[in-house]
Amino acid sequence: MSIQVELPTYSHFINGERSPASTGETFDVFNPATGEAVARVSKGTVEDVNRAVDAAHAAFEKEGWRDMPPAERAKILFQIADAIALHKTELIYLESLTSGGTVRRIAGNDIMMIIDLFQQMAKFVQSYPFSETLPNPLFPGPAHNFVWREPIGVCAAITPWNMPLLIASWKIAPALATGNTVVLKPASHTPVSALRLAEIISAVVPAGVLNVVAGSGAEIGETLVRHPKVDKVAFTGSTEVGRGIMKQAADTIKNITLELGGKSPNILLKDADLKIALPGTLFGVFLHSGQLCESGTRLFVPRSIYDTVLEQLAALTQTLKLGNQLDENIGVGPVISQRQKETVLDYIQSGIDEGARLICGGKEAVVEGLENGYFIEPTIFADVTNDMKIAREEIFGPVLCVIPYDHIDEAIEMANDTIYGLAGGVWTRDVNKAYEVARKIKAGVIWINDWHMLRNDAPFGGYKQSGIGREMGKHSLDAYTQLKHVHTSMVPELGRRVAYGLLMTEAKKSE
Ligand code: NAD
Repeated sequence: MSIQVELPTYSHFINGERSPASTGETFDVFNPATGEAVARVSKGTVEDVNRAVDAAHAAFEKEGWRDMPPAERAKILFQIADAIALHKTELIYLESLTSGGTVRRIAGNDIMMIIDLFQQMAKFVQSYPFSETLPNPLFPGPAHNFVWREPIGVCAAITPWNMPLLIASWKIAPALATGNTVVLKPASHTPVSALRLAEIISAVVPAGVLNVVAGSGAEIGETLVRHPKVDKVAFTGSTEVGRGIMKQAADTIKNITLELGGKSPNILLKDADLKIALPGTLFGVFLHSGQLCESGTRLFVPRSIYDTVLEQLAALTQTLKLGNQLDENIGVGPVISQRQKETVLDYIQSGIDEGARLICGGKEAVVEGLENGYFIEPTIFADVTNDMKIAREEIFGPVLCVIPYDHIDEAIEMANDTIYGLAGGVWTRDVNKAYEVARKIKAGVIWINDWHMLRNDAPFGGYKQSGIGREMGKHSLDAYTQLKHVHTSMVPELGRRVAYGLLMTEAKKSE
């Protein structure tokens, strides 16, 4: 007897309610550990985008949301944090099931960070300078002057599949904290957790403030970016798609934030404490099977300790547990899709072809009971040169490139010889040397004797082609507000309006 179980179906979330696609069509979402469909999701159309944007626009134009006093808004942000905490088990499960991220990481980091993010935003808005009074200047004359920070309007948030909940939250939290409204387009591999998040948040905010439309990037994403009623685009994804978004947004001169790819350099100095630096290096590159934008994918090692480091890294890698991401004992899960698996394996082949030396991994991994899953062995290449394809392009898989160096200046030159500038790191016992290297690496975040330490109160974003703008921290509130200067004259007599005399001599005489 075979039992057919209907897959759970998730609809778009528009104007405070679940809403099927205008065509009624759906697409399947898969568990990357098994390759099996686990949910069915509404397949967005241009009509669906228009409905979502109209709802967001109406919610923004209606008085009450965008001009809510900060103290009241802070209460709502705390309520959102509570609502997420209440539903965290469901969110962790959906996120892990569809993104392949381990429950260990999502429960131990992401969900806590998301709850903390909304709480931090609640605190930030209470002291954020929504209105600043300027001092009375000698020039151009006596007046009261304010600078107001106002919301931008309808924000399109377009997000990738690697950390769907966290990255969506990095956009939703500051957007709502400053009175904007949002239309979120999650990645097609991972829309389910974002759809549930929107429902959970919408129990606390007015209808239309947060909307989600699922569907293809080329159709739904591009329609949002080009939409005349969308005022801002906050995009996280590949540098290639980011370039296209900049061009698409140009026609309507949209405010954009871009969080893009990386090829982050990790520099080991001779005096580093290897007992912490080597596990830290693996943590920096193999967490989430290397599918994190700020992973430390290029490791620069002094030639004098090169062989020791390679030997210890290979041994440590063998201790990593690969398998079902839903199992709490597993540290490394699958990559997101068959296509991503093939892309990563092609990169590994190109490393071999260009003469890099495999010291561990290098092929797909077969996990017992999960033979159809998309697993790849954590892979380390030695003798990589910085001009090889594996050292230049973002692989987005569990592949570490180890590059030897003789002098630190040489390591820094290679570290910066990349189009990317998202993150960087240095391992040393000498704090002065650490700061010197930190100053010289061209990247938006530098970790000293650590990796992946993002904080909700610190800015995150890229130098060079890793992006434009910053998320997280108070700085992210700046990205969702625009400045308005308001001038009130304190001069009632026409004769004392010196500036008017620039046009009319009569103004002075009439006094
Ligand atoms: P991607 O660029 O393929 O897609 C990202 C999002 O853009 C998806 O929702 C996709 O549907 C949408 N999209 C695709 N084409 C589009 C178009 N023409 N117009 C509008 N939207 C479109 O990225 P991905 O494969 O989902 O994620 C991996 C990439 O994301 C990596 O490059 C990684 O470095 C980057 N990333 C960056 C950060 C960061 O904070 N800098 C964080 C995570 C991931």
